[in-house]
Amino acid sequence: MNFRAAIPDYVRAVMEKMSAAGHEIYVVGGAVRDLASGKVPDDYDLTTSASPEETIGVLERYGIRYADTGLKHGTVMAVTEGKKVEITSFRTDGEYNDKRHPDGVIFIKDINEDVKRRDFTINAMYLDADGVLTDPEGGLKDLEAKIIRAVGDPGERFREDALRILRALRFQALTGFEIEAETGKAMIKEAPGLKDISVERTASEFKRILTGEYASKAVRGSVDIISIFIPELKACEGFDQRSPYHDLDVLEHTLAVIDNIPLLENGRRDEALALAAFFHDIAKPLCFYLGENGTGHMKGHPIVSRDIAVKRLNELKFPPKEIKEISDLVLMHDTFIKPGRTEVRKLMAAYPAAFLDKLEILQRADILAHAAPGQLRMEKLTRISSLRRQLIDEETVTDIKDLDINGNDIIALGVKPGPAVGAVIDCLWEDYLSENVDNNKADLLERARLYVTFPT
Ligand code: ATP
Ligand code: MG
Repeated sequence: MNFRAAIPDYVRAVMEKMSAAGHEIYVVGGAVRDLASGKVPDDYDLTTSASPEETIGVLERYGIRYADTGLKHGTVMAVTEGKKVEITSFRTDGEYNDKRHPDGVIFIKDINEDVKRRDFTINAMYLDADGVLTDPEGGLKDLEAKIIRAVGDPGERFREDALRILRALRFQALTGFEIEAETGKAMIKEAPGLKDISVERTASEFKRILTGEYASKAVRGSVDIISIFIPELKACEGFDQRSPYHDLDVLEHTLAVIDNIPLLENGRRDEALALAAFFHDIAKPLCFYLGENGTGHMKGHPIVSRDIAVKRLNELKFPPKEIKEISDLVLMHDTFIKPGRTEVRKLMAAYPAAFLDKLEILQRADILAHAAPGQLRMEKLTRISSLRRQLIDEETVTDIKDLDINGNDIIALGVKPGPAVGAVIDCLWEDYLSENVDNNKADLLERARLYVTFPT
């Protein structure tokens, strides 16, 4: 197998210059993984026998721009033809192997030593500028067999860096690959080490896991791992809802909802939707109580699920805007308004259109993951949805500011400037939403007169 033709010119140009200067240089990591599986890589990581200073020397000689912000880890970022290529010197991770270099890495000259620090066999393949593959760990075979396998002793590798546990799950969520048995066992055993990983990195991997095409598979196999940072997940596993509306336990229902969120063009799911699906029923075990006839009830679970989502996403330092969107979706997932024009207009006035679009997708995904009696809601959702589209076509006004009347108009009717003016406009807005008045000035003024009382 030769990949020469697949390496883009801007990458090969850098490789050829480094080779000409006498340095070994290879494409490594995700790009090789992608090329070997017939995909087009997003970005290219290179690895070289040159020291970072030597790399910079070559780049400067050829007038190639670069950034040296990753220098501490041996990474120089070259920018050529407007594209970025990371060039990292062969290294071992000194912080694990040699406590005398606590926050450093040790640069080495032998690629076979660099291989050993790589996380998984499919990430430990190298391509030279001629497209020839070096595969010391059997990555190609694992790629073909669709297996994620740690390089070296899995337990040791996850103890060195627990982030690799989440990276494995991320690769599984993106590819659907199986995790090799010993690797999988070590991931669960070493999962408590995730507490030592920065929350930002945990959050970033967690998002990538949940938005992956095979997220449900990755989560199903890793409840004990994800529960390290979202402990409420554990109780969902095998939790029987004892409800005619559900034939799945809470975890399996949740995973079915994630599966039902459609993939975007990039092959992933919308982040807010994936996270909202993950959290939407997470409080059910906490809210559960048995009715007299032996049926399970989980009243109030959207509120408690929302609270859990807010708490855990805050801990993971998600941006406030994302937390708001996700938690609003969780809170609203079980709310189905009466499918009437007034009710739908009020909904449209209360939430942005983009949010309601997502809510509709979440609710549809949720309904589809119910047993047959629970599917009856679909008709209601469809009616709400088509009414909303109809109102959008009619160009319904959804913001009070777009009402064709303003404060001065109300004052001109004799209302004293102050809160009374706003109160009249609020009444008119309510009338408009309830279709008691059209949005034109003459009708609104006439209606306003009903609210304007004068001292006699
Ligand atoms: P992507 O770029 O799609 O995230 P990738 O595999 O290229 O996937 P990077 O984070 O870019 O991932 O890392 C490049 C390579 O560096 C990996 O393929 C792997 O060989 C190695 N690597 C990255 N992070 C780790 C880690 N925590 N432990 C061991 N090796 C790692
Ligand atoms: Mg990469």
